[in-house]
Amino acid sequence: MSTNNVVSDGFSTSYLESRRKFLEAAAAAGAEITSIAHPEKGPEGEDLFMDFACIGPNDAKAAVVVVSGTHGIEGFCGSGVQTNILRDDRSLSKFSKIKLILLHGHNPHGFAWLRRVNEDNVDLNRNYVDFSEPQEMNEAYLGVKDLVLPIEFNDDSEEAMSTWIEENGLDQYQKVIMGGQRVDPDGIFYGGTSTAWSNKIVHDILPKLTTNQEYVGLMDVHTGLGPYGHGDLIHSYAKGSREYDDLRAWYGEEMIGINAGEYGDVVAAVPRGPIVSSLDLILPGKQSYAFVIEYGTVEFERVIKALRADNWVHINGDLNSPEGKEIKGEMRACFYCESDEWRKLIWDRGLWSIEKLAAGLSQLSG
Ligand SMILES: [Zn+2]
Repeated sequence: MSTNNVVSDGFSTSYLESRRKFLEAAAAAGAEITSIAHPEKGPEGEDLFMDFACIGPNDAKAAVVVVSGTHGIEGFCGSGVQTNILRDDRSLSKFSKIKLILLHGHNPHGFAWLRRVNEDNVDLNRNYVDFSEPQEMNEAYLGVKDLVLPIEFNDDSEEAMSTWIEENGLDQYQKVIMGGQRVDPDGIFYGGTSTAWSNKIVHDILPKLTTNQEYVGLMDVHTGLGPYGHGDLIHSYAKGSREYDDLRAWYGEEMIGINAGEYGDVVAAVPRGPIVSSLDLILPGKQSYAFVIEYGTVEFERVIKALRADNWVHINGDLNSPEGKEIKGEMRACFYCESDEWRKLIWDRGLWSIEKLAAGLSQLSG
């Protein structure tokens, strides 16, 4: 796993190709595979699945879980890391005493349709909340709803959106939209008002795959935020908690606590309901650690515009029009960089992060 070409070959250009490479590499590595069929199809009529590949001893005291495709299209990045691990004997040798669980296509529908959201326009990372409790709706979103999703997506609509941002500030824009909202099912960063399919499957399957493990570390792979090619490691544990301290001990200052004021201005947009904030609910009774790795692609304003355009084309536009195809191309460019250099950066940082997690959990589990 030394040259850029070998690294790049683990990455794919469609959901189907990515799944095929992942499953082939998992089978070749002797992984136990669990595949759960999604109720809907991809754009070519293809079947969709959430796939789990398990490597290493079932009676291990600790497990490392790596998740790809929570935000659908971001799975092009995460699945490349997963497939490269499965193809790399040296990496797999680190898992002789720790169980490795690779969850491919957490949101397979969004992955196949080149969307960040799922089949119901739900942002999965705003959906991992306890819906038996009252949830913050974020009514402020209603104030920008018609600007975010115009009837026509054109120069006028973009000028109106820009004017709002100029008048209210980019911070306020991020704050109003990025934390998530439950007031407009057609809007962006919509967290839903009930448990999504993917969320249900994870609650069902992940406890079964970690029955014997006392310690579980989970890394959820994302793209579209931060500097090009760099992977920011971000958790939401409070300063002074055991999880904060252990993660800091394992990663040093490379591990950022978003609720400990270590992520600067972006704190305005701490998401309501990411999977990494609910691992205690998914795996009660275990000592767990969860964080995201956020890989940078292109500038933030371009990413948000692509998300709005994608939202518009699915709700008010025509996917098969030239404009629709252009929007899909831009979505891909915003969440996955088609370059050997970028993929090498992704792989090196991803592997380093996963191996650190395995080493940290090993210390705990002896
Ligand atoms: Zn994401």
